[in-house]
Amino acid sequence: MKMDWASLVVPSVRAVEAYQPGITEQKLRRVTGLDRIFKFASNEVPFGPSPVVEAAMRDALRRANRYPDSRDLLEALSEHLAVPEQCLTLGNGSIDVLEALVRIFVDKQHNVVLSRYGYSAYTALVKVQGASIRWADSGPRFSHKVDNLLAQVDSNTRMILIDSPSNLSGEWMQPTDLQRLLQALPPHVIVVLDEAYAEFVGNDHAKRSAQLPLGGARLIITRTFSKAYGLAGMRVGYGIADSAVINHLSRIGRPFPVSGVALAGARAALSDRAYIEHVVTETVRGRRRLAEALSNLGIDVQYAHGNFVLVDLGADAQSIYERTMTRGYILRSLGSYGLRTHLRISIGTSEEISDLIDLIAELSRGRVSGSSLAAVG
Ligand SMILES: *Cc1c(COP(=O)(O)O)cnc(C)c1O
Repeated sequence: MKMDWASLVVPSVRAVEAYQPGITEQKLRRVTGLDRIFKFASNEVPFGPSPVVEAAMRDALRRANRYPDSRDLLEALSEHLAVPEQCLTLGNGSIDVLEALVRIFVDKQHNVVLSRYGYSAYTALVKVQGASIRWADSGPRFSHKVDNLLAQVDSNTRMILIDSPSNLSGEWMQPTDLQRLLQALPPHVIVVLDEAYAEFVGNDHAKRSAQLPLGGARLIITRTFSKAYGLAGMRVGYGIADSAVINHLSRIGRPFPVSGVALAGARAALSDRAYIEHVVTETVRGRRRLAEALSNLGIDVQYAHGNFVLVDLGADAQSIYERTMTRGYILRSLGSYGLRTHLRISIGTSEEISDLIDLIAELSRGRVSGSSLAAVG
């Protein structure tokens, strides 16, 4: 008899749809046979780690037989952010920290308020708890609107979870708006602010906002080494919260969530200020150049504080998405957000940006007839 596994899986998990990470470079290379594949879909940094970071990771490899020790990274983060170590927690990427936060605060009877155009990975975290989602409409340019978030809060709301800067538009919640949100919330609601792109807003912002969870505010912040620090493949994120929150997180935390190589890489990356300054400067420059070039082609471009731009092609984006893909460029389609005319494009190296601009110019002149990419997907 055929086993019916699905019927044995807990209902909250059956209700979840798997996160769609998009096609990988390896897969597109196989399908197209092209040598050069450009990935502009996941907001990764286009450069590999700096020599200092690479050396630290190599060195850590030699201790792969030992369980890792996270103390060096926690100490360095504590110093860098001027936040006590008891207020910091590490995770296997910031998504790991976000998952743990939802687990310790959100139960079946609760709801979580999400912004319509917030990061799509949040939905699964809430649904797995058996909790419900209340959707707040976004404001102009896909920003998260304080009044709309507040309007969704009811007596069962336990958490508001938002990405700032946003993963879609790069818009961030201004400090005055955040203060207004925190002050207006009833005491049973906490705000979790996912600052995956904080470093692109600026070093001052990254340091200042790290202080906010310390002063008694019902605010928790998550950050990551995946974006500006260029270590997406290493999976290191962290949370900043009141020490009581950190204490409760430690009760459910698995032992050793971050590998020794990843810890060493993150520790070195934190000290390598030249690398991160280079990334931010190059990102800002590349973003402006890409936006200007696309605007000149008559394409509507939006960007703010992320290492990406959001384009609105005004017509179904699927065709450009597929035609750039046949040429080896992976952009981010946004159909899962219900945005059929938009694409998101991460900022690559200067050369990659030039090539992409040329390609989009060529496609928008209609010189290339779209070959179907039915085989990809
Ligand atoms: C990329 C991204 C993450 C994932 O970060 P990891 O630390 O790699 O898990 C989380 N939130 C947002 C908004 C992101 O864009």
